[in-house]
Amino acid sequence: MFRQTKAMLQKLRYLSFNGQQHTWRLKSTSAERALQYQQGQKIHGFTVKEVVAVPDLFLTAVKLTHDKTGAQYLHAARDDSNNLFSVQFRTTPMDSTGVPHILEHTVLCGSEKYPCRDPFFKMLNRSLSTFMNAFTASDYTMYPFSTQNGKDFQNLLSVYLDAVFFPCLREQDFWQEGWRLENENPKDPNSPLVFKGVVFNEMKGAFSDNERLYAQHLQNKLYPDHTYSVVSGGEPLIIPDLTWEQLRQFHATHYHPSNARFFTYGDLPLEQHLKQIEEEALSKFERIDPNTEVPPQPHWSSPREDHVTCSPDALAPDPTRQNTLCVSYLLGDITDAFEGFTLSLLSSLMISGPNSPFYKALIEPKIGTDFSSVVGYDGSTKEASFSIGLQGMAEEDTERVKQIINQTIDDIIENGFVEERIEALLHKIEIQMKHQSTNFGLSLASYIASSWNHDGDPVQLLQISDSVATFRQALAENPRFLQDKVKHYFKENTHRLTLSMSPDEAYLEKQAKAEEEKLQKKIQALSDSDRKEIYEKGLELLDAQSKTQDASCLPALKVSDIQPTIPLTPVQISTAGGVPVQYCEQPTNGLVYFRAMCSLNTLPEDLRLYVPLFCSVITRMGCGGLDYRQQAQQMDLRTGGMSVSTQVIPDSTQLDVYEQGVLLSSSCLERNLPHMFQLWSDIFNSPHFDDEERLRVLVMMSAQELANGISYSGHMYAMTRAGRHLTPAGDLQESFSGMEQVKFMKRIAEMSDLGPVIRTLPRIKKHLLNPDSMRCAINSTPQKLSDTAAQLESFIKDIAENRRERKPIRANVIERPLDPLDDSGPSRKLISELNFQPCQMKTFFQMPFPVNFVSESLRTVPFSHEDYASLCLLARMMTAKFLHGEIREKGGAYGGGARMGGGGLFSFYSYRDPNSVGTLSAFRKGVDWAKSGQFTQQDIDEAKLSVFSAVDSPVAPADKGMGLFLSGVTDEMKQSHRERLFAVTHKNLVDVAKRYLSIGQRTCGAAILGPENETIEKDPSWIVK
Ligand SMILES: [Zn+2]
Repeated sequence: MFRQTKAMLQKLRYLSFNGQQHTWRLKSTSAERALQYQQGQKIHGFTVKEVVAVPDLFLTAVKLTHDKTGAQYLHAARDDSNNLFSVQFRTTPMDSTGVPHILEHTVLCGSEKYPCRDPFFKMLNRSLSTFMNAFTASDYTMYPFSTQNGKDFQNLLSVYLDAVFFPCLREQDFWQEGWRLENENPKDPNSPLVFKGVVFNEMKGAFSDNERLYAQHLQNKLYPDHTYSVVSGGEPLIIPDLTWEQLRQFHATHYHPSNARFFTYGDLPLEQHLKQIEEEALSKFERIDPNTEVPPQPHWSSPREDHVTCSPDALAPDPTRQNTLCVSYLLGDITDAFEGFTLSLLSSLMISGPNSPFYKALIEPKIGTDFSSVVGYDGSTKEASFSIGLQGMAEEDTERVKQIINQTIDDIIENGFVEERIEALLHKIEIQMKHQSTNFGLSLASYIASSWNHDGDPVQLLQISDSVATFRQALAENPRFLQDKVKHYFKENTHRLTLSMSPDEAYLEKQAKAEEEKLQKKIQALSDSDRKEIYEKGLELLDAQSKTQDASCLPALKVSDIQPTIPLTPVQISTAGGVPVQYCEQPTNGLVYFRAMCSLNTLPEDLRLYVPLFCSVITRMGCGGLDYRQQAQQMDLRTGGMSVSTQVIPDSTQLDVYEQGVLLSSSCLERNLPHMFQLWSDIFNSPHFDDEERLRVLVMMSAQELANGISYSGHMYAMTRAGRHLTPAGDLQESFSGMEQVKFMKRIAEMSDLGPVIRTLPRIKKHLLNPDSMRCAINSTPQKLSDTAAQLESFIKDIAENRRERKPIRANVIERPLDPLDDSGPSRKLISELNFQPCQMKTFFQMPFPVNFVSESLRTVPFSHEDYASLCLLARMMTAKFLHGEIREKGGAYGGGARMGGGGLFSFYSYRDPNSVGTLSAFRKGVDWAKSGQFTQQDIDEAKLSVFSAVDSPVAPADKGMGLFLSGVTDEMKQSHRERLFAVTHKNLVDVAKRYLSIGQRTCGAAILGPENETIEKDPSWIVK
């Protein structure tokens, strides 16, 4: 688990209201109650320092410190039942051994009170948590969880506190999670010694992602004098320099209350949290001076340049253009909240969207495929940075790009920004604050983490409208306010780094050679007795990993703690201008959410692969009287975004029936509803397709984004491919979002003449944007519903000329009523391919990664089948009780497991896996394990808790009713699925494992993405791509 924090505005996206309380009159709200705390009040060893109402976000912030240790505490009281806890430590390593990252993994391997192996993963199955994770950033490590259940909160808090403050940190945990030398086959002392370890492999995988590699180099080189000059996650070849003793030492000095910041959020009472934290952890410590401050980076007197290399990207749109270049500027201290707010806004004005000066100057001339992976404001380090540059460019354009960057900065200083763009950005902030997400607590925790980590005031960060007001005032007082900032931070800033990166054909080979040398050096230093010890320790570890574990020390919820019934989501189904509409009343906090599902049934087969491209360009090329710049401006100013995406929706009753379409989604403030519908009307009636230059920019960016995504989401691509020949929906899914689509977009990006594509897009439009095969959904407040209905009616009238009755391409269309109680009402039209023949196919994609993504998929049963619930539970139980141990602990992969998909495919997968065919046999062993029935009632109950914590995860008001709208899954169907889940027995699980998961009885597909693989190449049953 490792991540890098993103720029502030990206985090702001997730900020939102709960929305049910428009006023603070109700005395009962959590926020109101929290206002009664007094400064100086003593509570369970803590002293209240500050109590601040933050009406923008409907919360009260209570700041405290722990008297004895100096631990800091922030509580955000808010009427949200999805309560969150997080504790973060300032972890500032001075080498690249990955010590904070390995520590993050090992503290989760067992603690004093909970000495069983891996309590963290075990709690996933003993809790109804809505989120559990741990992160290592460049300078802090954070442990957050959230849950809607009060008892669960206490259980998880106890496990988290014990893990971070009293971990066992056994030598064996260090070997398993960090690194170790071990016989390739631990049972054979004569097999060669190799490096193993979860973090070792995780980081090898992470750095196979060129974007990630570049970001790491850039940070290391821009801040060369302290902790940011090293890799906190671990440099694979330096990880083996870390010792167990150093790990324990790092824990003692960094994971101490005096170096800790606690954050709690939600409607549970603060006193209870404080009491538990004091009793179970803090009371056992004395104050220390952790000495973890990060000093300011000394400023350079002149700019610097540097160069790094990476592996070539086989999927890059143009292999001769694979260079990256960007200029990075050191900015001010992030603890200055207003300066951070201003710089983050300024960054958006400079780079976001087709109206920004850098988009015009760098993207539109098509010198590169997209901005560099690191771009814009980054507030995740003590002093922020701003980066601008390109990826996918040719080496000879280097000087030109540097010149354009300088010139653009000069132009901005000279001309400033159009006022309307500033307004659009402030509008965006208003929407982001009003939009309600389901993980608000987590968003807050990560939003304040970096600044608070360096003793910035987290409460000030939350007061966003204060910042907006100060910003408006600054702009009113000095119209050149922003231009002056640009001059100061960019033009006159000598602390800037120009970093280029180019592919090296021999890169992977060199990496492998360096690893081999490191390995040999370690091996040569070994005595015979060392070797013997390594062999014995390897066996010990294997033995420990194979043992059935007693997890009874861990707290757990019971199946009886789960709510027996689901809350209902009432909707009304009606029509507007002949088009079916679903209305859902929700506390949306003044926003209206609009969706339209348009069927693909009449689209000729040869146009299918073009649909994702159509979706990504249809809202971005201009429409009606607006060119694409004006369109983007109007969308920013009037809506919370407008997007179109492909949909493949499997039927809930039959595997060979599915619905295909595209989904239009948008939202806006209530006052902007007419503007939003006007934009959609223009898109329906007169979209612009003929600007080849604009299209090429969009195509390049899409192709680049797809190619970059594979090393991150390889398991998704492997699963999609493995399911391709098993159901008709699986086949369509591969066309829309699998490797087939990646390769198709690469071909399009390589076309010198996009004329044929330009002629194709209007043909697709005729089939898709047709009110005759469309249905809509509206989520809004009850007060706004009738007005919204009237406006929707007139929108449908506006687009009536697009109405065409067309014949579906495939004759076998079946209808399902939209309202399950009204068979004669409006319906969804599904494609039925009852004579579809599933077939077995194994595909291998050779990729420039050092790790594999492995998947196997089996055709089973649809959602409404009586065995579906058993298969869901089986997947969860196999993951927790068998596959996790085989694939992650023993195999050294970052992750792996099984999941049951709504389309009836049961899929196994592994993530960043050193093994390939070995993992396929681990999947098979998992099936044998399931068939043998060697699991207990406790295992089944844990799987039930785990499945229900997903089933019952909170749904945002914007998304309520969407299951019914898209898939026709009613509350009654959900309730019967729920009852089946409760009823699943040991016998059911063994039965479904035998019936559906045995090879030879059912059709199964497999796919692997990974490096050159001799075993597979020699095996004729594989197709190698
Ligand atoms: Zn990790």
